[in-house]
Amino acid sequence: MSRFRMYPTPQQEPQMLRHCAHARYVWNLAVEQHAHWKLGRKSAPGVAEQCRQLTEARRESEWLRAGNVDVQQQALQDFAKAKAARFTAGFGEPTWRKKHKHEGFRVIGTDRVPEFNEDGTAKTNPNTGKQVMGRSVVLQKLNRRWAQVKVPGCGWVRFRLSRPELPKAKTFRVTLRNGQWHIAFAVIPEPIDAPGSGEIIGIDRGVTITAALSDGRKLNCPQLTAKERVQMRKHQRRAARAPRGSHRKTAEYAKAAKLRAREANRRKDWREKTSTMLARTYDTIRFEKLNIKSMTASAKGTVDKPGTKVRQKAGLNRVILAQGWGLLRQRTEGKAPDRVEDVPAPYTSLRCSACGWIDKDSRKSQAEFVCSSCGFTCNADENAAINVAAGQVIRPGPLARAGGTTPHQRSSVREPQPAWVGIPLF
Ligand SMILES: [Zn+2]
Repeated sequence: MSRFRMYPTPQQEPQMLRHCAHARYVWNLAVEQHAHWKLGRKSAPGVAEQCRQLTEARRESEWLRAGNVDVQQQALQDFAKAKAARFTAGFGEPTWRKKHKHEGFRVIGTDRVPEFNEDGTAKTNPNTGKQVMGRSVVLQKLNRRWAQVKVPGCGWVRFRLSRPELPKAKTFRVTLRNGQWHIAFAVIPEPIDAPGSGEIIGIDRGVTITAALSDGRKLNCPQLTAKERVQMRKHQRRAARAPRGSHRKTAEYAKAAKLRAREANRRKDWREKTSTMLARTYDTIRFEKLNIKSMTASAKGTVDKPGTKVRQKAGLNRVILAQGWGLLRQRTEGKAPDRVEDVPAPYTSLRCSACGWIDKDSRKSQAEFVCSSCGFTCNADENAAINVAAGQVIRPGPLARAGGTTPHQRSSVREPQPAWVGIPLF
């Protein structure tokens, strides 16, 4: 995916918003159709059937007819893709799209280009013997920093070219989020070549330090500054106090959303740059295996058995999710396929990376690690990262237990580890 910030003119914006509305409407119709389906009923219509129904619907509805047929059909294609990926993508069943929240549409390129087989020969239709023509997005580079793209009904729309090359794609997706338009071209980037140095890096992800590397570097995912956080709270407070439905309420919420978008952009930027750096510099990248889903499980409990420290756990969950641990690994693997490995997490933070001794007393505090056996001193996160880089599965034997490890009890000296939130110990 290559994504750019898009800047439609005030004349183009209403048309783009209409595309969003049409795409959302068609998508939601598809959701409704499929929500009807129950076990034993005839299967819900597929894309081809839905496209036929769309043609009928366009004949009857003037509002739909006024819109672009490609945009509406692509919404159905998107739905079909989401439906097909519901078990693998992690989002589950496709659900409703909401106004102001899920604004976007997909456009299929209007340019016709000949398609080729993988071996470079022209692709022909087996029945007619004619050259198969594929679609391509119509793009134009204006200068070093700007390019423009043809959007149906809008003409040329400019976008900020933040990388040197124009992307080559069959389709693109336009989104509006927090008041910002973006264009994303559907291209699968080439994986980054391994440097070939044989170097291995271990990464320990944590709450205080987002990613501690085994070479001693500590990388932190950017957040809002203290000043920005104060501003955010101010806008949220003002919005909450403003009368319902007032212009001021909307304006204050919009200001808060803008700050949130800034933070999200900063994090995304950090994630992309960090994962590229890792893929370029190291041959093998080892992450400690985290089960983020069970780590961020709610501590709420049940009505009969209410949990303890629910609010504290909720706060921690928020921090864990904000750090984007899962995404860092996912993006790294996308750029360096087959070069990312998972190392089981238990004991990586308690084991001495110099002598292998496992003792919970070695972890003096969140940041300090002093081996109780050999006296090795190190930053605790760095120590864990070195253990991850070593990549071994550590099974504490009787010796380790004699040293004081009590793996089945929750230890108060450790920062939250998956051990007590769901990952079974050996
Ligand atoms: Zn030691």
